[in-house]
Amino acid sequence: MESNELKEEKVVFVTGGSRGIGKEVATKFAENGYNIVINYVSDKTDVEALKNEWEEKGVKTLILKADVTKADEVDMVVKEAIEKFGKIDVLVNNAGITRDNLLMRMSEEEFDRVIETNLKGTFIVTKAVTKYMMKKRAGSIVNLSSVVGVAGNAGQCNYSASKAGVIGFTKSIAKELASRNIRANAVAPGFIETDMTAVLSDAVKEGIHNQIPLKRMGSAKEVADLIYFLGSEQSSYITGQVINVDGGMVM
Ligand code: NAP
Repeated sequence: MESNELKEEKVVFVTGGSRGIGKEVATKFAENGYNIVINYVSDKTDVEALKNEWEEKGVKTLILKADVTKADEVDMVVKEAIEKFGKIDVLVNNAGITRDNLLMRMSEEEFDRVIETNLKGTFIVTKAVTKYMMKKRAGSIVNLSSVVGVAGNAGQCNYSASKAGVIGFTKSIAKELASRNIRANAVAPGFIETDMTAVLSDAVKEGIHNQIPLKRMGSAKEVADLIYFLGSEQSSYITGQVINVDGGMVM
């Protein structure tokens, strides 16, 4: 573990860190000595027990309700984080939703809601946090894209568009912010076992396994390990990249 090697206290902000991949990402950073900032939108029950576990190990936490689509709520979280910790070293834009439907059946509301949360939410949070990273002339941003943002997927034109947008956004800010020593990378998971994929039927899951060379879905921990690498100094010469974690599904 890197915890004992941290020369100064580090801080990670994981959006949507209350469940699934986000919770696993926060756990990975906490295990490595980072202080944790998390926001969620509806329910923090899952993360409350972990909070106590982390704090017993000396990890400081800030867990707040804030919708990533609302700039005033995001600003409030970032302001409190800066007041409490003085900085944010790593930002993980993880909060995301799906509203799947075929194009002909998809409502404007389903399309807009997904773009607002996954793409505009990433913009809102990044803008709020980058202000402070620029002052420190240091930072690492990891954005959650998806393999369907690279390859497309029937029934997910809203979600695929949002995740393709996240890739363009990531590459653009990587170019803009490199001179301030801020890196930005995107992670593109394949099918990962979380609440988001729990809704899929066994038949659909079977079909998915057949498309994956490693013949199984991934775990949130396997995604968190990559995000930790990209957030930490271990990846200090990597920026503007999209890295798949998908069992070989998209090559
Ligand atoms: P999940 O289990 O459904 O968790 C989503 C998280 O995002 C929750 O913490 C949720 O908070 C939060 N969230 C949703 N809308 C939000 C909003 N408006 N403001 C703040 N927080 C919000 O999802 P997951 O499977 O862990 O996915 C995490 C990320 O990975 C997403 O960006 C997703 O698109 C991406 N991804 C997932 C997969 C997969 O197979 N699971 C594959 C590729 C990419 P609440 O708990 O309060 O609702």
